[in-house]
Amino acid sequence: MNSSRLMLSLLRLVESGRRRGGKPSVIENLISLPVLRRLLAALNYRDPATKMHAWRTSLISVGIAQRLGWEDESLRIIELAALLHDLGKVGISDHILMKPGRLSPDEASYIGVQQQVAVGLLQACGVQSEVIEIVAQAHGLEEKISSLSGELSLGARILSVADAFDSLTTDQVYRSAYSQPRALEILMEQAGKQFDRNVVSALGRWLETPPSQMLRDHESAVTLTQANLPVTRETIYEASELCHLFSALHSMETLYEGFFILDDRFRVCVWSRGAEKLYSCSGREVLGRSWPEIAFPFPEVQEHAIYSRVQEAMSTGQAACRSIHLCKEDGVVRELEAQLVPLVEDGVIRGTLVMIYDMQQSRGNSGLFRQLQMAATRDALTGVFNRGELEGRLQHFFNEYVDGGESTPFSVIFLDLDHFKAINDRLGHSVGDQVLIEVARLIQDETYSGEVVGRYGGEEFVIVCPNTELEVAIERAERLRRILMSTTIADRTDLRVTASLGVAQLRPGDTVDGVVHRADEALYEAKRTGRNRTCQEPVGHEGSGKKDVKASEWEFRKSLVTEVASDLLRYKLKGFIEGESIRLLKSSAEQIVLQCGQRGLFGWGSQPSRQPVTVTINIGDAPNNGQMSRNRRVLLRVLIEPIGQPAHSETFQQRAMQVLRELQSYCIASIEGQPVI
Ligand code: GH3
Ligand code: MG
Ligand code: MG
Repeated sequence: MNSSRLMLSLLRLVESGRRRGGKPSVIENLISLPVLRRLLAALNYRDPATKMHAWRTSLISVGIAQRLGWEDESLRIIELAALLHDLGKVGISDHILMKPGRLSPDEASYIGVQQQVAVGLLQACGVQSEVIEIVAQAHGLEEKISSLSGELSLGARILSVADAFDSLTTDQVYRSAYSQPRALEILMEQAGKQFDRNVVSALGRWLETPPSQMLRDHESAVTLTQANLPVTRETIYEASELCHLFSALHSMETLYEGFFILDDRFRVCVWSRGAEKLYSCSGREVLGRSWPEIAFPFPEVQEHAIYSRVQEAMSTGQAACRSIHLCKEDGVVRELEAQLVPLVEDGVIRGTLVMIYDMQQSRGNSGLFRQLQMAATRDALTGVFNRGELEGRLQHFFNEYVDGGESTPFSVIFLDLDHFKAINDRLGHSVGDQVLIEVARLIQDETYSGEVVGRYGGEEFVIVCPNTELEVAIERAERLRRILMSTTIADRTDLRVTASLGVAQLRPGDTVDGVVHRADEALYEAKRTGRNRTCQEPVGHEGSGKKDVKASEWEFRKSLVTEVASDLLRYKLKGFIEGESIRLLKSSAEQIVLQCGQRGLFGWGSQPSRQPVTVTINIGDAPNNGQMSRNRRVLLRVLIEPIGQPAHSETFQQRAMQVLRELQSYCIASIEGQPVI
């Protein structure tokens, strides 16, 4: 999984954590429910035993807290803190997580970093501070979190007793479970030392509770019930992604002096422990705030040095490595390197990841650093650009083309290996991998400087040829195909690797999606007509992007009419926009452009939230039709277009209709020609 995609998913998680819809419930005041569900699903995916432990610890903590007279929100806080206290385990490797017996000091410090990563993530997702405080204190991170005092809060003391009690009464790899009375005795022996005496006594009282009362305690575990989530393919996928994310954050926390992510409005979304130290500013002080508004205690030497670097990365969409100078309290200037990686999604720059590295201090690590730097933009297997970077580059060429008055077009070549699955099946996956590596190298050797090569997916590569007309691009593609056909790959004489290629050229009035779509169609044609050949974009389609013959299949136009007063209409639309996975792209008095849904890693998914569309709403006056009405009749001309490529136009049409229906009900509108619902 590549790191810029992981960082994009982190950005989305943080955004959904900070977005709380309508009137939040008690729990939603503490954490966003979708985020809680995702975190628990990841914990379950990583290790169901850890999740069960979290659930039981949560119930025990609530039981103890109730016996100590806690009520309402305080109960929810301890319940949630207990549920999340082992979140750091999501990123811990199996050999440590499942290790029988004691951990070595190195292993313990590794776990410590993971717990810090978890606490940082909770902070970034806007989880309520008392919850975070309890989790941090329970892991002894209290002195490392600048804003917290040394004294353990009562919440942390409850959590540590509940945690220990559940561990003692559960079978462990290295010993069997103690009975409840024996476990209580052990805790009593430690009361006044490791554990709070009052808390252990409260646990004793809870254990004496009649079963019927205990059942009621279970029912009062509201958060647990609400956080429960049916397991679907999507939750499993998201959970595995989150596990990757945790390990990536762990590596970054260890290797870099600090790192952070700014979103497209330059707001700080992620702020690592290292960044806290570098800038002497805690997450609490900077998260959610726009960079220019933050008053750092020690300003950068060149004014807003990093800020201008980020602005540059954000406008060009190019990853870059830049030196920066940081001023410290003793007046010393630190010279550091900043690696900037724009986070590009569907051709749109959503934010920038900044990783700061001290070349002087960690020369020994510089090889590793370079590797990481590459990892952000390169495909891990073949070393060519990864899909995120490819999309960024394509967008960059496109912008240049538009800025240059559409005078110098570029062409796109799609290349897909033929019957690659059969190679895997016959010779094994590792030979398959070797083929991919060598084909990528061959493509790179055969392309000209200035051309961009990327891996689009499994055995599919894309070559972008700037300043190249279709005919020339077709010649290049053909040359590449012939060379590939006659080259011995992976030292196997029993292996003949061929590819099919599709070529398209960017035309006036075109879009990035349009040219990519046509190159893909051409590739499909090459497959259909026998493979090991090059086809060009379908005749008659060129230059029209989605405005081609089949345009109507890929756009959905309807008009809505509403009599809602226009300020109320704005309010209603706001409700719609605040719904899940909807993003406002543009807003003016006459036009609103939204993105509904996000693309999954594998393009359009089966869930509406994974079927992204842009919705353009043009607002105007509706003809009166001679009807008497107190309100102005407003006409909403709606245009819905897919982002990326749905497999079938029917899938898109259905999704568009569903979005329109939702919009219709929010705006209390009628579809033109239909009665109000
Ligand atoms: P076609 O000629 O129609 O393109 O057939 P194909 O077998 O090449 O295409 P298909 O899409 O059916 O199969 C692609 C295969 O590529 C399936 C998948 O297992 C394999 N693959 C994808 N990524 C990798 C990888 O990183 N390494 C290896 N070894 N195989 C991969
Ligand atoms: Mg193939
Ligand atoms: Mg394929």
